[in-house]
Amino acid sequence: MIIATEVHKWYGSFHVLQGVSLTVNRGEVVVIMGPSGSGKSTFARTFNALEDYQRGTITIDGMKLGDRQGNVDAIRREVGMVFQQFNLFPHLTVLQNITLAPMWVRGWKKPKAKEVALQLLERVGILPQASKFPGQLSGGQQQRVAIARALAMQPKIMLFDEPTSALDPEMVREVLDVMRGLADDGMTMVVVTHEVGFAREVADRIVLMDDGMIVEVAEPQEFFQNPKHERTRKFLSQIL
Ligand code: ATP
Ligand code: MG
Repeated sequence: MIIATEVHKWYGSFHVLQGVSLTVNRGEVVVIMGPSGSGKSTFARTFNALEDYQRGTITIDGMKLGDRQGNVDAIRREVGMVFQQFNLFPHLTVLQNITLAPMWVRGWKKPKAKEVALQLLERVGILPQASKFPGQLSGGQQQRVAIARALAMQPKIMLFDEPTSALDPEMVREVLDVMRGLADDGMTMVVVTHEVGFAREVADRIVLMDDGMIVEVAEPQEFFQNPKHERTRKFLSQIL
């Protein structure tokens, strides 16, 4: 469970997060939407300590983030992240991409890491590509490797930052289907995305961010049909 309370962050004099509070319960899928530059990525990245913050608190399953360096490794084991640009290791095979972190960070022996990796590749539908290199895969396949790689650490929470925005349209679906499967299995997920269909069908709640603040939080039906705030209506008129 993630509890963010009154989180503030500055880049120099620029106040990028202006007192953001959000609770994500276990098993919940929260989608974050909002215009470019509103702080969505920055906020999501604070949840696994990729970004620090200056005021407020964030706890992940009771572990406080940002006060002691000691927590960072524990947090990163609990919280997996998938980025827009896959960020795979280009010189490692698909299988090696997935086994690397569990062997280093969890201390797994190679056979166990490999067994888990192969199960995950099957789950995301790319088992036949296990010995290829990332450059030999389509964008959708690479992103599914990135998801499998994050899952290999057996995280309790998964963060996705626009995981389909770098993909050709025909590959978006295969990635969203994997994410939908994860949600169905009860994974706690924070997903920055403008995929309206996914948000409508999979999100428990949708958050609209603007100017470093959360403007609206609502269930999908309410968010799309009956938004409370003018800012949300304006945003929706641009994306729908
Ligand atoms: P997008 O939809 O384009 O991904 P976003 O909502 O994810 O946007 P962020 O990437 O969180 O927005 O950025 C929020 C603001 O902070 C932007 O104005 C951005 O220019 C600024 N910003 C982001 N990273 C840095 C940085 N490292 N240093 C200074 N400013 C930054
Ligand atoms: Mg972003």
